[in-house]
Amino acid sequence: MIIDLHVHTKPLSPCSHIDPLEMVAEAKRRGLDGVCLTEHHALWGRSELDELARQSGIRIFTGNEITTDQGDILVFRYPVHVPDIIPIAELRREVLAAGGFMIAAHPFRGFKVFGFGQLRMTPEQAAKRRLFQLVDAMEVCNGKLSEEENRMALEVSKILGLAGTGGSDAHQIDEVGKWVTVFDRDIRNEQELVDEIRAGRYTIGAAPAAS
Ligand SMILES: [Zn+2]
Ligand SMILES: [Zn+2]
Repeated sequence: MIIDLHVHTKPLSPCSHIDPLEMVAEAKRRGLDGVCLTEHHALWGRSELDELARQSGIRIFTGNEITTDQGDILVFRYPVHVPDIIPIAELRREVLAAGGFMIAAHPFRGFKVFGFGQLRMTPEQAAKRRLFQLVDAMEVCNGKLSEEENRMALEVSKILGLAGTGGSDAHQIDEVGKWVTVFDRDIRNEQELVDEIRAGRYTIGAAPAAS
């Protein structure tokens, strides 16, 4: 089952240019079986999600992208509106208490500006970031990051034995499905999504090319 785990739509994510209905149509056209709406500090209502799923014919899941002092986190199974930036330790505590799941989004975004070489940061050093002690998984393929940044994330995930996921982080229609997570099993809800990531029953891929 091919799912884009990281997608933004307007108006809930004001930085996105994607209309939700256009997004699901594009996802379907590209052969995706589902998408996960991860708006910035904003939650979809269950009835709106169900309606979008009904109109689209694909599975619609939801999470939330929450900015912390350690960077952006994709949060699942934690249906609480967090209005503003929050210390990651506090978010971790609350999400764990609620039985939720946290994925570090684009953990090395912007590092290419300086260049890993100039920073002389090795994956072993990067793996020591406190962030990685406080999440359940990390994005290793993010559509907005350079190959180098994603490669660093992949190496760090291997060092830590932390699950790595893929998502487009689409803010524009042509970015939907740029990276996807391909699950072995059928997934019907966010709990199953989290369970399957934990169990490692997935691979990462690029969506079939749009035609
Ligand atoms: Zn982000
Ligand atoms: Zn995002």
